[in-house]
Amino acid sequence: MTIKKFLLTFTPDNVSEPVTYRLVKEYDIMINILRAEVDEKGGRLMIAMEGSGLQIDRAVKFLESSGVNVQELKEFVKKDDDRCTNCGMCVSICPVSAFMVEKGTRKVTFLNEKCIACGMCVDACPPGAIKLRAQV
Ligand code: SF4
Ligand code: SF4
Repeated sequence: MTIKKFLLTFTPDNVSEPVTYRLVKEYDIMINILRAEVDEKGGRLMIAMEGSGLQIDRAVKFLESSGVNVQELKEFVKKDDDRCTNCGMCVSICPVSAFMVEKGTRKVTFLNEKCIACGMCVDACPPGAIKLRAQV
């Protein structure tokens, strides 16, 4: 099983389509909605899709054929190692332990695959060393 994160952009024409329902029912994809800003004029939805690589590819094709703009988010946040002071604030605040303190060096490293895109570390970082890669 693979988990991939996507930013979906809807237009007024397709925002009322039940695409997430169809992803679950017809494409057997598990969906986790990470962030949403959608109204009748359109909007953006950040989701994590879990399934086989083939299932996710088919789901993306379905979304695109429905007129939804699909952008894969390989990294939700980026840590600037030059700015980081290894203070550990992000280690304490991250709900899924996506930051780790290296034994010995005490250097803080970021594990992108664990990140669930909550955004809490961005504001918590004193020197602003963590930036969002995409806004919703
Ligand atoms: S965005 Fe949230 S889940 Fe991702 S690293 Fe930051 S605090 Fe952790
Ligand atoms: S909060 Fe910022 S400065 Fe502190 S360890 Fe995390 S990334 Fe580095």
